[in-house]
Amino acid sequence: MAKNFELATLGVRAGQARTEFHEHSEALFLTSSFVFENAAQAAARFTGGEDGFVYSRFTNPTVSMFQERLAALEGAEACVATSSGMSAILATAMSLLKSGDHIVCSNAVFGATIQLFGGILSRFGVDTSFVSPTRVEEWQRAARPGTKLFFLETPSNPLTEISDIAALSAVAKSAGALLAVDNVLCTPALQRPIELGADLVIHSATKYLDGQGRVLGGAVLGPRALMADRMIPFLRTAGPSLSPFNAWVILKGLETLELRMLAQSAAALELARWLESHRAVERVFYPGLPSHPQHELAKRQQRAAGPVLSFQVKGGRAAAWKVIDATRLISITANLGDVKSTIVHPASTTHGRISQEARDAAGIGEGLVRVAVGLEAVEDIRADLARGLG
Ligand SMILES: *Cc1c(COP(=O)(O)O)cnc(C)c1O
Repeated sequence: MAKNFELATLGVRAGQARTEFHEHSEALFLTSSFVFENAAQAAARFTGGEDGFVYSRFTNPTVSMFQERLAALEGAEACVATSSGMSAILATAMSLLKSGDHIVCSNAVFGATIQLFGGILSRFGVDTSFVSPTRVEEWQRAARPGTKLFFLETPSNPLTEISDIAALSAVAKSAGALLAVDNVLCTPALQRPIELGADLVIHSATKYLDGQGRVLGGAVLGPRALMADRMIPFLRTAGPSLSPFNAWVILKGLETLELRMLAQSAAALELARWLESHRAVERVFYPGLPSHPQHELAKRQQRAAGPVLSFQVKGGRAAAWKVIDATRLISITANLGDVKSTIVHPASTTHGRISQEARDAAGIGEGLVRVAVGLEAVEDIRADLARGLG
């Protein structure tokens, strides 16, 4: 679809392919395979001499619609869908790296990403250096011959640290590495990493792309040749493909993406300002506040500050748990990316298995509470948080 359409239009319209029935809404193709006119066509489809669908591990029309719509939103040449966000990250590593290669990765990425790079890929001879998401010179120093991939997530979760995508893209280029940005927390509605110099964008579609907590999905976006030569051969052969049903659900989620992300960010900003002025709160972590260390960078890089905020309450773990346990509306869950607001105590859940020293180094205090703000009325969310802060 033409590049001159606005994001809201692309979210609703891009990638749709109608069948002979001229359905208005996108069709769901629940089929594992496709039939051929004759043996010669089957042969041509298998050798790639003729374009067309063969088997849903390779491609499926509903999955293709999702891929094209997300590519249009991210401003990417190509998109490949995967069964989950983690399989998108695994596919990136398996497609681009070999034994002896090296990754430089932000130390504030999703926990499973740290496990995958540090605990699993290391067994296959791929080494990872973990560095600060905000100190560009650490990335420069960590790069070495054999460094093939820079990987980051911005804003980070739960502390909302902002990485400078343009600056790190320049460092990656001079090191001969590709920069991959996990864009889960912002989505293309708020941040388009490719425009800022990233080579690849990673998504867990499970989060804000679906937006309503229904299905798992993921995607990798980037240059057409890289996708065709590296990513697609891995996915077709290894098989972490996105189910057509999940693709259809997420495709419909994309139609409301921009509206949701802007509304949820506006609510988060209002709550962050209120929390910052609250007596029981020591510190609020939210890129939309002028008190945030990378507030100016966030304003340049993002269209809004996003739905995720954290705050440190006075009184440590007991006070934090009191806030969480006093909620009646907000869901107590480590998940995020939903229109239902969620609340969690990172130090005893998402970051509970790492040592106290590592938690202190990462700045995950005992009094820290993370809220992923949904679409409920902001007054109701505020009243729910106020009860335990009283
Ligand atoms: C959830 C998440 C992932 C993993 O996605 P799944 O769909 O759960 O596999 C990766 N990165 C970030 C930032 C996430 O929040």
